[in-house]
Amino acid sequence: MIHQTLATSITIKGIGIHSGEIITMTCHPSDKGIISISNIKEKTPTLELTIENLAQTHNRATQFKNETANITTTEHFLSACAAFGITSLNIEIDGDEIPILDGSAKEFCNILQSTALKPIPSKSLLPIIIKEPLTIWEDSACIIATPAESTLYSYYLSYNHPVIQSQSHTIELSTKNYITEIAAARTYGFEKEVQYLIKQGLAKGGSLDNALVIGDNDYINEPRFKNECARHKLLDLIGDCWVLNRPILGHITGIKSGHQLNHAFTNLLAKKYL
Ligand SMILES: [Zn+2]
Repeated sequence: MIHQTLATSITIKGIGIHSGEIITMTCHPSDKGIISISNIKEKTPTLELTIENLAQTHNRATQFKNETANITTTEHFLSACAAFGITSLNIEIDGDEIPILDGSAKEFCNILQSTALKPIPSKSLLPIIIKEPLTIWEDSACIIATPAESTLYSYYLSYNHPVIQSQSHTIELSTKNYITEIAAARTYGFEKEVQYLIKQGLAKGGSLDNALVIGDNDYINEPRFKNECARHKLLDLIGDCWVLNRPILGHITGIKSGHQLNHAFTNLLAKKYL
């Protein structure tokens, strides 16, 4: 396994879910073996998207910060990077959040698919090999890692709700499988919760164009998959594990886990294997 970057720069533009503002990010090739980001509007120093800079945060997004800079809503972009094995980038952005696009990783994958990747042979990239079962709990949620000969991800969720009840999905991670099974799964929210967020002045950029919304008795907009919610949670889990910037050889199963538990899990992996 080797570090990879882009052969040429790419630009992605879209609304920020929190600010509601249009954000432009340009990803440049880098040979440093790390993904880093600079806010060109605030002119803050470069922030490295590493586990050391992972912010202690709520369950809604994956945020990185240091003394001077912060960036949020990174998980869907990092998930697409995991699918393509991209470990090294220099990103310039004119805001403090990654564009939400349609709430999935589909557009990120489309643009990455149309761009050549460049290996960085001078840097070795060792996978994290899960050598023994590992479990982490948070209330009724947990993440289990078990040894496996490839990279497998599973997710199971259940709600006491007539529309989604329980859903699950498993994927053997490859670029091809990710594009067909995971990339298009959008973030989701319950109608009442969405109304509350809008009332609080949060999620200014949120709309039916960037989320699957669940009403009391039915979906408000059309789901893309029968188990779109479980697929999206897998997308998040894959992105949160890419904070380690290393492929994982093993089977990772998330049961009702969110960003907070995902982060605790990656910290546990870092402590044990890095
Ligand atoms: Zn998400």
